[in-house]
Amino acid sequence: MKVVVIGNGMVGQKFCEKLLSKGIPDLQLTVFGEETLAAYDRVHLSSYFAGKTVEDLTLQPVKWYEENGIDLRLGDPVQEVDRLKKR
Ligand SMILES: Cc1cc2nc3c(=O)[nH]c(=O)nc-3n(C[C@H](O)[C@H](O)[C@H](O)COP(=O)(O)OP(=O)(O)OC[C@H]3O[C@@H](n4cnc5c(N)ncnc54)[C@H](O)[C@@H]3O)c2cc1C
Repeated sequence: MKVVVIGNGMVGQKFCEKLLSKGIPDLQLTVFGEETLAAYDRVHLSSYFAGKTVEDLTLQPVKWYEENGIDLRLGDPVQEVDRLKKR
């Protein structure tokens, strides 16, 4: 099964975790993120100014995506979705 997730925000990241937990065989998961950082806790973003670091706010490090076989493409916004051709 090939799944492409557009957007590496809080919801996109949680979706990946849920999908992985299903243990689907031969899952090919690709995630496109417009931003250059992996998904972070946007809700607590203001705590960055109170001393939290990027690492503190990051939901899962890039290494987590690698370890789970997810093809994470950051800084790579999707421009168009061709539903008929599935591209
Ligand atoms: C000012 C503000 C205050 C908030 N305060 C709270 C709060 O106190 N508590 C609370 O629970 N919630 C709060 N929220 C809401 C919370 O931030 C959102 O509910 C949450 O971020 C939604 O997560 P999401 O993953 O759906 O979307 P987002 O966090 O918006 O993530 C979407 C991601 O997709 C990326 N993206 C978009 N288009 C493309 C594309 N074409 N290709 C690739 N990537 C793309 C974006 O860059 C982004 O990284 C607040 C929101 C705002 C704006």
